[in-house]
Amino acid sequence: IMSKNKSSECVKVVVRCRPLNRKEESNGPAGGIVQMDLKLGQVILRNPRAPPCEPLKTFTFDAVYDANSKQRDLYDESVRPLIDSVLDGFNGTIFAYGQTGTGKTYTMQGAWMDPEKRGVIPNAFDHIFTHISRSQSDKQYLVRASYLEIYLEEIRDLLDPNHANTRLELRESPETGVYVRDLTSCVCKSIKEIEEVMNMGNQARAVGATDMNEHSSRSHALFLITVECSQPGPDGRKHIRVGRLNLVDLAGSERQAKTGVHGERLKEAAKINLSLSALGNVISALADGRSGHVPYRDSKLTRLLQDSLGGNAKTVMVATLGPAPQHYDETLTTLRYANRAKNIHNQPRVNEDPKDALLREFQKEIARLRAQLNHRKWRNKHKKDGDVWDRDGDEDTAGEEDYEEKDAEDYMTLEEQRLELEKEAIRGDRFLLAEEKQRLLGEKERMMGDLRKEQEATEQLTAKYKAMESKLLVGGKNIMDHTNEQQKMLEIKRHEIAEQTRNEREIQQQMLIQDEETLELRETFTSLQQEVEAKTKKLKKLYAKLQCIKTEIKDVNDEHVRSRQELEQTQNELTRELKFKYLIIENFIPPEEKNKIMNRLTFDPEEDQWKFQPLVQSESKSSQMKKRPSSAVGYKRPITQFARVAMTMGPRTRYRAENVMLLELDMNPLNISSPDRYSESDPSQSPSQDSSPSKDRGVCKSTSWSVYNSKLPLYIVYKSAQNCKVKLALIYKTFVRRNPF
Ligand code: ADP
Ligand code: MG
Repeated sequence: IMSKNKSSECVKVVVRCRPLNRKEESNGPAGGIVQMDLKLGQVILRNPRAPPCEPLKTFTFDAVYDANSKQRDLYDESVRPLIDSVLDGFNGTIFAYGQTGTGKTYTMQGAWMDPEKRGVIPNAFDHIFTHISRSQSDKQYLVRASYLEIYLEEIRDLLDPNHANTRLELRESPETGVYVRDLTSCVCKSIKEIEEVMNMGNQARAVGATDMNEHSSRSHALFLITVECSQPGPDGRKHIRVGRLNLVDLAGSERQAKTGVHGERLKEAAKINLSLSALGNVISALADGRSGHVPYRDSKLTRLLQDSLGGNAKTVMVATLGPAPQHYDETLTTLRYANRAKNIHNQPRVNEDPKDALLREFQKEIARLRAQLNHRKWRNKHKKDGDVWDRDGDEDTAGEEDYEEKDAEDYMTLEEQRLELEKEAIRGDRFLLAEEKQRLLGEKERMMGDLRKEQEATEQLTAKYKAMESKLLVGGKNIMDHTNEQQKMLEIKRHEIAEQTRNEREIQQQMLIQDEETLELRETFTSLQQEVEAKTKKLKKLYAKLQCIKTEIKDVNDEHVRSRQELEQTQNELTRELKFKYLIIENFIPPEEKNKIMNRLTFDPEEDQWKFQPLVQSESKSSQMKKRPSSAVGYKRPITQFARVAMTMGPRTRYRAENVMLLELDMNPLNISSPDRYSESDPSQSPSQDSSPSKDRGVCKSTSWSVYNSKLPLYIVYKSAQNCKVKLALIYKTFVRRNPF
């Protein structure tokens, strides 16, 4: 338990208030309703509708940022330590929570062009790549980025050009936890590259939306960065640490109006905030600490952020507020939400040598390519020197490699020159016959070709090797460090100041808590008068606190009632909708059809969808030739020649290769009174239900042909399975449809 407690830490919650905008300044009553005590990390909220005597609401956070705060301040104080942890191999998450228009996107992205206004994400890019360029050269890094969006409970890959049509699925594995299957992940070698990735995703986001503001207020954007770092450990082997960073810009937290909408609109409204309300429930359950069940599975967002909330990650939540009086309710809700999140405990740990580290695979691939290259070079050298060149295993030093490359090139040019000379010699040789001359020249020509081919192959291999190697960033090498010593010092000083402010605030907060707790401490009073005074003061203080808590309770109760009413209303509308659908089903769908459909339906909890079970079991597709239902009168099907051959010869029959199917229609007139099987094999009735081309309906039909033609060998030459099906259907039409029984 000790060790667990040691590694456990709380979610850091900071609050930021944006300045009043022009519109709010001009039409609202003067001033905002949010005050901040930067030293103490407190937000003081005034209710614009309450009488002036009502106490103000105070909330304490890890840090607060007012309207004058700089992007840089927030980053240095509250985000930098988290990114440092990610670079050390921890998982980290930053999410921006708040009402639409309060500065979530401004905080996360900001204005790219203005260095003063760059938000958390661009600053994190700088931070990560600068760190890599300054780290020791025995470290190798691999940086990857992904960008996705959750909209109406569907996950879209923003880096996939085809993202509008593909819905990604969540999967869970015991090693990596929850992940998104088939998510695009781009290897980034520089700040510029990762910025391009980000911009590409932002564009994709904007293109799909008719109204960007509306869209972004209803969707969650997750930018994921994976930093893998390999470093030789004390045991001499390379160890890999993997840090995953989630940068999350959540949907607007305001309540979506659910009243007065029906049908699709209602479902949509219910879905929009599903992820956010699930997030709220998860936070409540975790902050409570008592309820055992945490409803992570209720939404895609909470499943993806499972590790970030109560799991293996360090998490920072930035709650954004607007100062305008008309948004008092939303602001209060945001503050309560944020306040609850403070109590979540996470258990972050370094991800050391995970199985899915891509860096390891890259290293292996690079080693393989290098071995291939060396082998080639060695072979050339061997040819040139004419004897086996004895070499030892280590040839890793760059100098030797360069030398070798030059060597190999030299060899190529020399060889070419030699062949050229020989050709000249042959041409000039007067004693050779013309024919012989031609032959020898041809041979030389061929050798030249071979040589060139060889050279090309080596070049290709080298290019591949170089491309692969360039993806790995080596500490202190890949990126030019433009900052001079002075700037570096300045940076360090700034971090120190940020650190100090943080510490000071923590101490102040602790003092405040202690102050409150020591109220009851016994004190010695010199006189009764003094005692009365002191106790009256304390009483007043406590009374004020009591009032605060009372209003808080009332507020919470009100909110509870409100949300319950809303839920009831939603339920009523859904029930009405359900009754409507039932009415249609009961009156317009035959009961047997309904039963058939019902029997085929199964619920897929993974996708939260009802699904139709396939009519044919999918596993029987491969061994279809052998497994067929037996006939009604006890014959084992298949009975045709073709099928018999197929049975004995296995799946690779001669006929199949030649696209010839022999149907020898030599059956006894069988019992044809099996109407349901017959109707099932009718291609004109159920073309859409089964589109598997190899489902053999021919045999079934031969039953009915045989009634009219008891011995008729029928060869069908077809080009493809689809083609065969069409032909069979045609024959079926001409033979059977004309002669109904
Ligand atoms: P959200 O993403 O929460 O809907 P935005 O980030 O789009 O909100 O912010 C809304 C507007 O407020 C933008 O025009 C933005 O530039 C401005 N804004 C937000 N926060 C700040 C801030 N701290 N300082 C200055 N302007 C801000
Ligand atoms: Mg936004």
